[in-house]
Amino acid sequence: MEATFKQLVAIEAVCAEIDRLDGLLAEFPAEEEVVAAGVRDAQGALEAARATLEHEELEERRLESAMKDQEALILKLNHQSAQVASNEAYTALQNELDAAEAAKTDFETQALEHMEAIDAAKEVVAKAEAELARVEGEAPGKLADIAERRSGVEGEREGELAKRAKLAESIEAKVMKRFETVRARKRPAIAVLETNSCPQCKIVLPRMRVSEILALEEIHDCSSCKRLLAPAKAFE
Ligand SMILES: [Zn+2]
Repeated sequence: MEATFKQLVAIEAVCAEIDRLDGLLAEFPAEEEVVAAGVRDAQGALEAARATLEHEELEERRLESAMKDQEALILKLNHQSAQVASNEAYTALQNELDAAEAAKTDFETQALEHMEAIDAAKEVVAKAEAELARVEGEAPGKLADIAERRSGVEGEREGELAKRAKLAESIEAKVMKRFETVRARKRPAIAVLETNSCPQCKIVLPRMRVSEILALEEIHDCSSCKRLLAPAKAFE
């Protein structure tokens, strides 16, 4: 049984390496998602910047048009004031004119503010465009780097699988099956017994079980955690 125990321990070391590589492989999708999210964020920022610019331009056009309406009204009122007969009507027209002038000035001031906002929004759009171009430019390289590392890990995993298959060749199929069944639930599946208690779950084994294990005639498991127990002397 010594040889079988040694083989199983060697196989378990290879299995642990495969587990480690599987862990690395599981991380690649998240890395790819970071790259994709970076592009999405930059696209979102650009869309938001463009929407702000569009809104400011729309407002500015609305104010320009309101200003023109007031100008037309002022022209009309001026024309009317030349034709009024009474003082009262004249005063009323003057009041209307003052109001129209004030409204025009107000629209003008607001339009100027929006023109400044348009300039600022254009800068934000330009920066967002540059950022998107940068992020989109870098994405293929980053994804290629991830793909290269992934294929490296996959290659290593293939190598470990071959190593495990080679080591398993000299082990009886039913032993291998038992090892795999235990390992599906407990890792490590094999524990090396140095004292009379299981090194993994710490339970003290019955004296009978310990002497059976030390006899090295069969593979015995821990009565509690069911791991396969190999006596330390098998590795001397
Ligand atoms: Zn145990």
